[in-house]
Amino acid sequence: MDRPTIHRLDEATVARIAAGEVITRPVRVVAELLDNALDAGAGRIEITVDGDGTERIRVADDGCGLSRADAERAVERHATSKLPAETAADLTGVSTLGFRGEALAAIADCATLELVTNDGEAVGTKLRIEDGEVTVTNAGRAQGTTVTVTDLFADRPARRESLAEAAAEFGRISELVARYALARPAVRFSLTHNGTETLSASGSGLQDALLGVYDAGTASRSTTIHHETSLAAGGDLSVDGICCYPSVTRATREHVRVSVGGRPVTDTGLRQAVLSGYGSLVAGNRYPVAAIDVDPPAGTVDPNVHPAKEEVGLTAREAIETAVERAVSEALTTADIRRTDAAATDLETELRAVDRADPFGEVRVIGPFRDLYLLCEDGDELLVVDQHAAHERVNYERLRATVADEGVPTAPLDPPETVSVGPGAAAAAETHADLLADLGFDVEPFGGGTLRVSGLPAPLGRVAETDALVETLDRLAAGHQPDDRRDALLSDLACHPSLKAGDRLTTGEAEQLLERLGECEQPFACPHGRPTVCSLDESTLAAGFERGSTRFR
Ligand code: ADP
Ligand code: MG
Repeated sequence: MDRPTIHRLDEATVARIAAGEVITRPVRVVAELLDNALDAGAGRIEITVDGDGTERIRVADDGCGLSRADAERAVERHATSKLPAETAADLTGVSTLGFRGEALAAIADCATLELVTNDGEAVGTKLRIEDGEVTVTNAGRAQGTTVTVTDLFADRPARRESLAEAAAEFGRISELVARYALARPAVRFSLTHNGTETLSASGSGLQDALLGVYDAGTASRSTTIHHETSLAAGGDLSVDGICCYPSVTRATREHVRVSVGGRPVTDTGLRQAVLSGYGSLVAGNRYPVAAIDVDPPAGTVDPNVHPAKEEVGLTAREAIETAVERAVSEALTTADIRRTDAAATDLETELRAVDRADPFGEVRVIGPFRDLYLLCEDGDELLVVDQHAAHERVNYERLRATVADEGVPTAPLDPPETVSVGPGAAAAAETHADLLADLGFDVEPFGGGTLRVSGLPAPLGRVAETDALVETLDRLAAGHQPDDRRDALLSDLACHPSLKAGDRLTTGEAEQLLERLGECEQPFACPHGRPTVCSLDESTLAAGFERGSTRFR
């Protein structure tokens, strides 16, 4: 990367730059500093945060660094190396994350800023701005830049007041770093909060970034995407990313992350295109885990439509969304999803059968109806089996047996997550600490209505989500019995990997499903209490066809 030469933008360009307050909360400081580090060509970025971020945020990179003269100019308003000085600069040509030349000035305005930098000279530069006073001294540092921001909003009580609890502010920062790590998989990221590293991505690819942001179980159940296509309007579009298999789901859509040319964005349309690519593979109230980067042709992206640069304008939006949907759906079709899901939905392994005659022993499978029901003949009855409900029952009883034998195993959550549950639920966590441990949760109180979660229940390798903890605590706080909680947790876990509407079973698989269902203690209801089987006897059909009696047979 060439050395930057920083200059002030001319008035015409400044006027065209989307205005807006740049620094509204700590996460915005981190976002701007990450943009700068990446624009400087960093291969490695270390982020350190204390408290809610107003105490201290530090971002260190190994990028190109700044000369002393440039460092002094960098903190001036509208001073940038990233746009030509005088232009009717076409901002759609911008390939850097920054271009407005105002972030460092805006940060220095509402905090104390220290910038230590070296562009490869023997001696580096330390520049400190406190209360508008700039001091410049020599500093030792390898090539790269470290920016330290302290006492953010110290003289802006209104801003301070509008901030949430420390855990929530840090949560935003952590999510931001996750988005960057997934959008820039070749860069090494590490995030440290109050002295503990909470996220690290090694910079060796998307699977690794996923491992850093989630865990080994999630990363191993994923497939990478590379898709290139020519747009009708001209130019090439590439779609790169990583998609977890449909068996890995979350309760919210935030786990579908998108970026445009390596810039993380919140873009409802692109996110929806990813979801459409999954189609009905994921149940309606669940969301997949995926990170997709699209790289549209030069000149078709306008980065200047949002003050925090969180959105971009896309000229070829429709074609891009279509390409994303296709790339995701093709990747999922070619990935060996069936096999990876087989362990979770396996119908071959027998249950410990209850000691009674198999209720479906004489049943003959006729075939599927709308890939939702199995039609079966049982003497003079027509049985209609809800395949999802039936499979849930089988999974549930299997989970319950494992738990009774072995207890609920715990899957470590690394890094631990801080979950804000509210004071009532946090108190319930302390009262029922033993029960939670018994259910496989590893939690400690973290103060202020938050819990630190370092392990989640994982019966039969199915890891629960932190949502399950929140739900458990809410019910305990509401006075539910511990035993009910255990059953409710198991039934939720049984539901996720179960057959979905639209999963077509072969006759062999259908027979196995019935066989396993027959081994259940309560084969006729799913764990949530809905029926698994309805029957229609022959006389009902006869009445419907006005056969009335055997007279017309
Ligand atoms: P912008 O990024 O929009 O240009 P900033 O105020 O964020 O504006 O930064 C001003 C200039 O300072 C940048 O154009 C860049 O030349 C320089 N700069 C800022 N941070 C770094 C960094 N980490 N490494 C190298 N140069 C930097
Ligand atoms: Mg910048």
